[in-house]
Amino acid sequence: MERHWANPSSTHRAGQGVRHAVEKARADVAGLIGVRAREVVFTSGGTESINLAIRGVILRGRTPSAAEAPPAVISSGVEHAAVRGVLEDLAKVGLVRVLLAPVGREGVIDLARFEEMLVVSRPVLASVQWANNETGAIQPIEAIWRACQSRGVQLHCDGVQWVGKMPVASPPCDLLSLSAHKFHGPKGIGALWVRPGLILTPTLHGTQELGRRGGTENVPGVLGAGAAARAAIAWLADETARASLAARRDAFEQAILVGCPGSHNNGPTTGRLWNTTNIAFPGIDAQALLMMLSERGVCASAGAACSSGSIEPSPTLLAMGLEERVVNGSVRFSLSRETTAEELDTAVGIISDCVRKLSPTIAGMTNA
Ligand code: PLP
Repeated sequence: MERHWANPSSTHRAGQGVRHAVEKARADVAGLIGVRAREVVFTSGGTESINLAIRGVILRGRTPSAAEAPPAVISSGVEHAAVRGVLEDLAKVGLVRVLLAPVGREGVIDLARFEEMLVVSRPVLASVQWANNETGAIQPIEAIWRACQSRGVQLHCDGVQWVGKMPVASPPCDLLSLSAHKFHGPKGIGALWVRPGLILTPTLHGTQELGRRGGTENVPGVLGAGAAARAAIAWLADETARASLAARRDAFEQAILVGCPGSHNNGPTTGRLWNTTNIAFPGIDAQALLMMLSERGVCASAGAACSSGSIEPSPTLLAMGLEERVVNGSVRFSLSRETTAEELDTAVGIISDCVRKLSPTIAGMTNA
């Protein structure tokens, strides 16, 4: 902020120095997903990238007419609130019909049903996440992309949970959303990759970002995203680092399941991001558990959003067919690249103790 204080759109020397730094950061982010720098649009985060991708395709060159049925968009019941929200919004004003591909018990899209829906509803767009934020479940995105390509359907992929944690040789989609704070970058900065030739209607009008996203760039955020991308590229080069974190997560999960009788893992056991575990403690109030954990220094979250004083059960876990009692007792634990085995051991002790205190009736447990 002290050195690169000028506006990157200014033609003076100070501005051009900042432009150079911004373009270097763009090349670094592009390198993380195997694309060319000019295809990357900086945004204020994953949510804005998702909004730009979906609205940008749907509003492109379209004059809605009452006589015409709105075009279909296929998505799934396990998408992030940003995807769900923008699709609901567009559906409300009659701009799209939203069709949700079903998911199985492990939260993975039923590919055969997805393909059937492509044939029957002939959508203009599909929007599917690469990996789930609550369970870590990985979607069969390459197969989804092949199915979309064979029907001429554009695919937006919410890659926010995937990018930076897993390698991307080249994006299996037409539009890819990412967010820097998911790979140790700053919050409030993200990007949308747009396949060359794809025209988008901007949501924020202006001249910056080749007219695709107006507004003076968030330079500190952009440079932070570039630095985080460089660090992620270096980390991703060693496959064993991911494998050892996955093993650490599995051991942590196993220790909790043993320490808390009645608990179980909600997500898949294979085909899951290395950093996530979603554990159900049926009959326990997840919000109460989170508060106790927080007091003792364990930061976790529930897939429940608190809105107007009421707790909404996680739509993702409900879409997976879990009972509300299980959903309301489910907690998500996430590791980072830096989480150590010692930290996880300490957390297991605290979690087991808190669960025991909240569930005196679970067989074999006493309320100490
Ligand atoms: N999509 C997924 C899968 C996410 O996990 C998140 C954030 O948690 C987002 C989108 C939104 O990203 P951001 O927080 O950068 O707006």
